[in-house]
Amino acid sequence: MEEKNSILSKRKNFFISTYGCQMNVNDSERMSCLLEMTGWVKVPQPEMSDLILINSCSIREKPVHKVHSEVGRYKYLKNKNPYLKIGVSGCVAQQERSRLLKQLPLLDFVLGTDAIDELPEVLSRLENEDREVVSVQQKTQDPYHIKTLIGDPGVSTFVNISKGCDNFCTFCVVPFTRGRERSRPLVHLIEDIQSLTKRGVKEVTLLGQNVNSYQSPCGANFSRLLENLALHTDIQRIRYTTSHPKDFNEELVDTMQKYRNKIMDFIHLPVQSGNDKVLKDMNRGYTREEYIEKAYMILEKVPGSVLSTDIIVGFPGETEEAFEDTLSLLDKVPYEMIFSFKYSSRPFTKAKSFKNQVLEEVKSNRLKRLQKKHKKLAFSLVEKYKGAVLKVLVEKQDCKTKLFVGRSTQNKLVYFEGIKEDIGQIVPLKISHLNISTCYGKKI
Ligand code: SF4
Repeated sequence: MEEKNSILSKRKNFFISTYGCQMNVNDSERMSCLLEMTGWVKVPQPEMSDLILINSCSIREKPVHKVHSEVGRYKYLKNKNPYLKIGVSGCVAQQERSRLLKQLPLLDFVLGTDAIDELPEVLSRLENEDREVVSVQQKTQDPYHIKTLIGDPGVSTFVNISKGCDNFCTFCVVPFTRGRERSRPLVHLIEDIQSLTKRGVKEVTLLGQNVNSYQSPCGANFSRLLENLALHTDIQRIRYTTSHPKDFNEELVDTMQKYRNKIMDFIHLPVQSGNDKVLKDMNRGYTREEYIEKAYMILEKVPGSVLSTDIIVGFPGETEEAFEDTLSLLDKVPYEMIFSFKYSSRPFTKAKSFKNQVLEEVKSNRLKRLQKKHKKLAFSLVEKYKGAVLKVLVEKQDCKTKLFVGRSTQNKLVYFEGIKEDIGQIVPLKISHLNISTCYGKKI
C-alpha cells in the first residue's frame, strides 16, 4: 500500500461537523462510536484531524451552499495534510449524491442516510481508491434494526424508534432524504433501553420523524410502546418527539395520563399554520379546529401538560388573512415555546412548484410579528413557575456558570447550586426567577 494514500497507517483523528435536528445529532454520535470502535480518535477542531465529516441537514435554508462553503474552508488543510479525507453525510449527501463529488473536487466521499454503519468500511476502501460515492441506496425492508450506539450516554439520551416518513408534507424534503417510514421492533427497544439504564441512563427521548405512526412488526402502536417501556424497563423518564397532529389520538393521551410518573407531560405538536387553506396546501391532514380540539384534549386529560409547536410563515399562497389565523391560534393554544421559520423551497417537494410564492420581505415581517406576539404571551404563561416546586432530573454541571442543570417534567431547563452527587437524581427545586426558556431554582 502506498504511503501517500494511507489514512490508517498514521494518526487517526476525526472531526464531525453536525447540522440540523436531533436525528442528525444522533447519527453523528453513531458515526463517532463506529470510528472510535475502529481506533479513530475524536478531536474538537478540524485542524487536528485526518478525517472531516460534514453531517449535513437539508431542512433549513441553503443547505447545499453550506456544505460547499464548509468544504471550501478546508482547502488549506487538504494542502497541509495529504492524508486528510473529507466526507459529507446526512440529508444533503442523500439528496445531491454524485453531484457533490462532481462539484467539490476536495471531497473524498458521500455517505447516504442509510449508509452510516458502512463508514468504517468506506474508509478502508478509500485506502485503495481515489474517490467514491458510497451507498445512497435507501433500504426499504421492514423492520428497522439499529441498536443505540453512544459513547457516553450520560443521564438523558435519545433513542431512535423509527426513521423516514410517509406523510409527504408539500414543504418537506424528509421523505426524499430519509426514505419511507420504518419502525424498530418493540422487543428490541425494550432491550435497548434496559441496557441504557444499566449504563446509568435515567431518561430517554424517543425519536422519530412521526413517532405517532410508530408500528412494531408485532402490531404494537406508539401507545403500546410507551406502556411497555413504562412497565418493562427501569427507565425513570420517557419523552418523545416529533408528534404529528393527525396521528395524535386519545389512546395516547390516556396512556400518558396512566403512566404519568414515567411519561413526561411535555408535548411538541407542530401545527405549521393556523389557516385551513394553508394546512390543506401543506398536506398536513388536519384542520385548525381539529388541531385545537386535540390540544384541548391533551390539556384537559393531562392537567399541567405543556405544549410547544413549529410554525412556518410565508408558505406559498399564505395571504395576510391566512397569516392572521396563525397569529390568532396563539391566543387559543397556550404554547410555552414555538419554533418559527420562514418558508423556503426544497428540492423534490411539491410546494417548490407552487406559483404564488410569498415575497421575502413579507415573510420576514410576518416572522417578526409572530415571534413578538409569542414572546408577549409566553411571559405570562411561564410566570406560573415562579415560586413553584419543579422535579428536576439533574444532568450535569454547567462548565461556564458552575451551576448544576437539568430538566423538569415540563421540559423546563433549570439551573441551581448543587453538588456532584445530584447528577442523575430527581431533585425538587423551588423556582426563584426565570425567563421564557430557563428557570433558576433552589433546593428545598
Ligand atoms: S410529517 Fe411532514 S414535516 Fe414531518 S417529516 Fe414527515 S413530511 Fe416532513
